[in-house]
Amino acid sequence: MAIIGKADLHAHTTASDGMYPPAEVVRRAKLAGLSAIAITDHDTIAGVQEAIAEGQRAGMTVVPGVEISTVTGSADIHVLAYYPDNADPLWLERLAWIGSARDRRNEAILHKLQELGIGIAMEDVREAAAGKKGSIGRPHIAGALIRKGVVPDMKEAFARYLGSGAAAYVQVQSVTTTEALQWIREAGGVSVIAHPGLYGRDELLEQWVREGAQGIEAYHSDHSAEDADRYRAFAASHELIITGGSDFHGEREGESYHGLLGSSGVELFVVEQLRRMAVSLSSSS
Ligand SMILES: [Zn+2]
Ligand SMILES: [Zn+2]
Repeated sequence: MAIIGKADLHAHTTASDGMYPPAEVVRRAKLAGLSAIAITDHDTIAGVQEAIAEGQRAGMTVVPGVEISTVTGSADIHVLAYYPDNADPLWLERLAWIGSARDRRNEAILHKLQELGIGIAMEDVREAAAGKKGSIGRPHIAGALIRKGVVPDMKEAFARYLGSGAAAYVQVQSVTTTEALQWIREAGGVSVIAHPGLYGRDELLEQWVREGAQGIEAYHSDHSAEDADRYRAFAASHELIITGGSDFHGEREGESYHGLLGSSGVELFVVEQLRRMAVSLSSSS
């Protein structure tokens, strides 16, 4: 594999809350001039196989990944896993458990909305997510709120009801960051702390590194240039892999959510770093 080119290591598909099916994301990544794309849906690998098959057709490197929703104390922390062994039954069982935590949370949010006098049924949320397979989450609940005329747009839905600290916010009762790092390691994957600039909890980074985090997403659509500099420096001093990605979801309600494909990313050699790290992990376990 030539190691010259650009890689976007963070993208969502219809397998979670993205707008486009996995194969379409791969085609769009190619059109955007990328050499590699990682498929990192929330708590599911359901889109990975289709993406890899399309990558083989299109001559595009597709990195298998997943973005796991974890908690550290009261903070929602996303952890990316690259090249896990997706044939490992224990890993698949753990992912399924995390995925169902999302369903439990959705129900709790709808219950809170009910208490606020807003009647949204799971049926409405599924309708708002029409045609999507995989995990249903807050963006789909926001979609239902928009369709019911409760809020004008996605932004308002999160500000008033669904965002952290908002009226119907419910934390995911799911895996801790500590456990997730261990599970990823046991599945032979490489763990990367996703978009640390969004948490405002840099004091936790040292702990996660001690617990096994092997990389840090320094480049992200919602990171400032200062964020990227700070996390690059942190990675260098802790011998972590420096990753980056757009967190592409597509456009919703005419608004691009996070970034466009390739708007954030890294050089292609990082894909090699991840792959080699994953291979050395699985051969040592
Ligand atoms: Zn995330
Ligand atoms: Zn993401």
